[in-house]
Amino acid sequence: MRSFTLRLPSWTRHRPGQHYDLRLTAADGYSVQRSYSIASAPEREGEIDITVERVAGGEVSPFLHDVAVAGDRIEVRGPIGGYFVWQAALGGPLLLIAGGSGIVPLMAMIRHRAATATHPATRLLYSSRTPEDIIYADELGELAARDDSLAVVHTLTRSQPAGWQGYARRIDDAMLTEVRRPLGEAPLVFICGPTPLVEGAANALVRIGVPAQRIRTERFGPSGK
Ligand SMILES: Cc1cc2nc3c(=O)[nH]c(=O)nc-3n(C[C@H](O)[C@H](O)[C@H](O)COP(=O)(O)OP(=O)(O)OC[C@H]3O[C@@H](n4cnc5c(N)ncnc54)[C@H](O)[C@@H]3O)c2cc1C
Repeated sequence: MRSFTLRLPSWTRHRPGQHYDLRLTAADGYSVQRSYSIASAPEREGEIDITVERVAGGEVSPFLHDVAVAGDRIEVRGPIGGYFVWQAALGGPLLLIAGGSGIVPLMAMIRHRAATATHPATRLLYSSRTPEDIIYADELGELAARDDSLAVVHTLTRSQPAGWQGYARRIDDAMLTEVRRPLGEAPLVFICGPTPLVEGAANALVRIGVPAQRIRTERFGPSGK
């Protein structure tokens, strides 16, 4: 994972959950476009952060990781998206569910929430393979430590550190039942990550009684591998 700050000559305030499209164009005119969620809060003016996972063999993410350097100019379009967005005015309680880089738009929501006065009860369930794969680990820990209304719950699906007391499996009905319980029957839910995780978590939530109209999803990639 690597984070980038993009300074925007014509900045527009975004809504947490929105993304930008980045376009790369080669000298021969060949061009590719990919979407990247905004990680930063809208309270930061004039620039945004994105966080990009390196997908081996990909066209855009390896370029950003291996070739792009500070000061490069990149063509972007945004902010885009009007469905997978949360602003403090929407209230809560909030259940945020992330798999891997799916944490990025949810981080914008959490940062926005921290920057405003309204703090609806919020729980983040974050699935990562190993402890090293947890993005924004320190910041999430600090935010939760100073805010009783924010809980961060990790599940580590592939390897766990010695003495790990948290979840160590893929998200399932029992896990969602436990994590959702303090938020009542119908929290507002945002789920983001690889398609199998998003579909699995959304279906499980409906099975345990969360109203489907309270669940919003965003799929990042073609696989969960
Ligand atoms: C709305 C939206 C927001 C997004 N936000 C982010 C973000 O914040 N951070 C981020 O890292 N990505 C994000 N993505 C994914 C991103 O747009 C690209 O799909 C990703 O970076 C791969 O692009 P690439 O050009 O490197 O690989 P490609 O050239 O598109 O793909 C190369 C190979 O990798 C496979 N592949 C592509 N994507 C994935 C994946 N996610 N997991 C596993 N295999 C894959 C492809 O099937 C192909 O075989 C977002 C996608 C959407 C739709």
